[in-house]
Amino acid sequence: VSFGYEDIPAQEKTARVGGVFTNVAAKYDLMNDAMSGGMHRLWKDRFVRRVKPREGEQILDMAGGTGDIAFRLAESGAAVTVADINPAMLEVGMERAAKRGIDGLVWTEANAETLQFPDRFFDAYTIAFGIRNVTDIPKALREAHRTLRRGGRFYCLEFSTTLWPGFGDIYDAYSHKVVPKLGQLLAGDPDSYRYLIESIRRFPDMETFKGMIAEAGFVQTKVEPMLGGLVAIHSGWKI
Ligand code: SAM
Repeated sequence: VSFGYEDIPAQEKTARVGGVFTNVAAKYDLMNDAMSGGMHRLWKDRFVRRVKPREGEQILDMAGGTGDIAFRLAESGAAVTVADINPAMLEVGMERAAKRGIDGLVWTEANAETLQFPDRFFDAYTIAFGIRNVTDIPKALREAHRTLRRGGRFYCLEFSTTLWPGFGDIYDAYSHKVVPKLGQLLAGDPDSYRYLIESIRRFPDMETFKGMIAEAGFVQTKVEPMLGGLVAIHSGWKI
């Protein structure tokens, strides 16, 4: 199966991404732990520390999936809306929230490119491991900007390109050999995991993506690399 999507229509990319996450929803959390050796938990903890959520704030967790970021944000007492294009991921998230006794989150289906929320509504917008799956990334960034109030903050956690010499090769070998096998073994679905790896490889490097955030209207754009940029936190401010 090929997931080369540069030559396919936008609608079809969105549909394929939909298929991937419907396939992996039930095993998504297990796979995150298996593939990152549990490290995704630390990256997410650090991400939410950077966001500094506060009681009473309105926060949109875009591409929120099964709720990992939203649960952490909600500990502050912020009002969190989890939005995702995929109902199967949201379903798993709602079940997890119920099991943990977390209530008060709003779960809603939404495409990051066309948000149903009013202008200047949110205090913060977060998106973790989501933006690379979006078909029209500049459009999604403009929607983030539109729905944030003045003084609102944008935070994105995403895989990027590590600048550590040698580390990139190890990671490439790992992702092409080990990840599809794990996908087969634990989720019975190597192709979806091949897509996820491919989407990471195609994503713009840290500086380019920072430029795209500025292009959407954000100021004071920053990038904080982790593991040399294997994972990065990008942020910006709406004024
Ligand atoms: N944020 C969660 C986390 O960190 O565990 C989930 C990340 S998961 C790798 C990516 C999510 O992006 C999936 O739930 C998928 O359905 C969602 N997604 C993909 N394209 C989207 C779009 N255009 N709009 C909204 N969500 C989208």
